[in-house]
Amino acid sequence: MQNSRLATIMPTSRINIEKLATPGVRGLRPYEGGKSVEELERELGISNAIKLASNENPLGPGEKALQAMRDTLAGVGRYPDGNGFSLKQRLAEKLSVDRKQITLGNGSNDVLEFVARAFVTPENNIVFSEHAFAVYPIVTQAVGASPRIVPAIDWGNDLGGMLAAIDEHTRVVFIANPNNPTGTWLKADRLDAFLKQVPDHVIVVIDEAYFEYASAGCMQVPGYDSMLTRVATHTNLVVTRTFSKAYGLAGLRVGYAVSSLEVADFLNRVRQPFNLNSVAEAAAVAALDDDEHLARSVKLNCKGLQQLIMGFTAMGLGYIPSAGNFICVDVESDGRAQFNALLREGIIVRPIDNYAMPQHLRITVGTYDENIRALAALKKVLGK
Ligand SMILES: *Cc1c(COP(=O)(O)O)cnc(C)c1O
Repeated sequence: MQNSRLATIMPTSRINIEKLATPGVRGLRPYEGGKSVEELERELGISNAIKLASNENPLGPGEKALQAMRDTLAGVGRYPDGNGFSLKQRLAEKLSVDRKQITLGNGSNDVLEFVARAFVTPENNIVFSEHAFAVYPIVTQAVGASPRIVPAIDWGNDLGGMLAAIDEHTRVVFIANPNNPTGTWLKADRLDAFLKQVPDHVIVVIDEAYFEYASAGCMQVPGYDSMLTRVATHTNLVVTRTFSKAYGLAGLRVGYAVSSLEVADFLNRVRQPFNLNSVAEAAAVAALDDDEHLARSVKLNCKGLQQLIMGFTAMGLGYIPSAGNFICVDVESDGRAQFNALLREGIIVRPIDNYAMPQHLRITVGTYDENIRALAALKKVLGK
């Protein structure tokens, strides 16, 4: 019935919409997120699946953030503060920067896209590493620029190789520190040397999505330090952070950049006026005041990472030392097949063949019980 009605109003020949899309967007494939617990449970007819696939905080939001969200709900009939004054103010105090140096994003992915939209044309290229965060190639392609992918060293960013890859058309370098999906990190002295050598026509983005974990006292991350203080001396430096990981607010989408006033001015020009919603802003402000929840979260992560490493070692499995809340384990076989086998055990992890790591799985650190279950399932499917 509906079909025949449609047929009468459709033009006889279909318009080729693909031809209308920009060349960059035509080549894009949407970001492949992790399978959800609900989806897997429906497929398997089970009820106790666990997800260790998207580097979320297993504790979720803290009580202060939750209360702030509840308190804000009745006000959502109004538009949010387009300038995000209260969150910028709180961040500025905490980070000892000027409020105008901060650009707020709907997740830090939003901010990564602002950098590309504000500074990069199709004539430009963007430099990043092999095994780098999947959003870097996506934003590169979305603005029609070319990616320059630098081979990794020991799974991490090769800063020398990145410097060598920069040419007169390079406008941005993306570096995640720690890196996702590998968990590798760069020492601050190496990054300092890199920043000194990068030419003036290149914007350097240091993506510190896992900063709170890497800088926690209980982690073994020799030489790691944030590059935030270097923003004062490097006009072309952008440091990004997020509330999606250690703060447990991934579903709310809040991230930010700290940069020079000049760069922040341009990032703000491409930002949509209400990109940060009012519930998210209130929760983020409250989360910044909840040191206890953050401390509990990073401590749980340190212990969980040790627990996973001990389990891998007991099974004789190699892994890449990680500074984040996730770890790559070498399954010495087809990672995607093992991912599917783990799904049947009700465990969702992340296959990373699309990051050119076909024999590794990335496992997010969960609660103690979740880690036990993940290790037991891994032992079973690998026959260890
Ligand atoms: C998770 C992650 C982000 C954060 O993304 P949001 O948009 O803030 O949720 C940014 N960079 C890296 C490397 C990540 O792994």
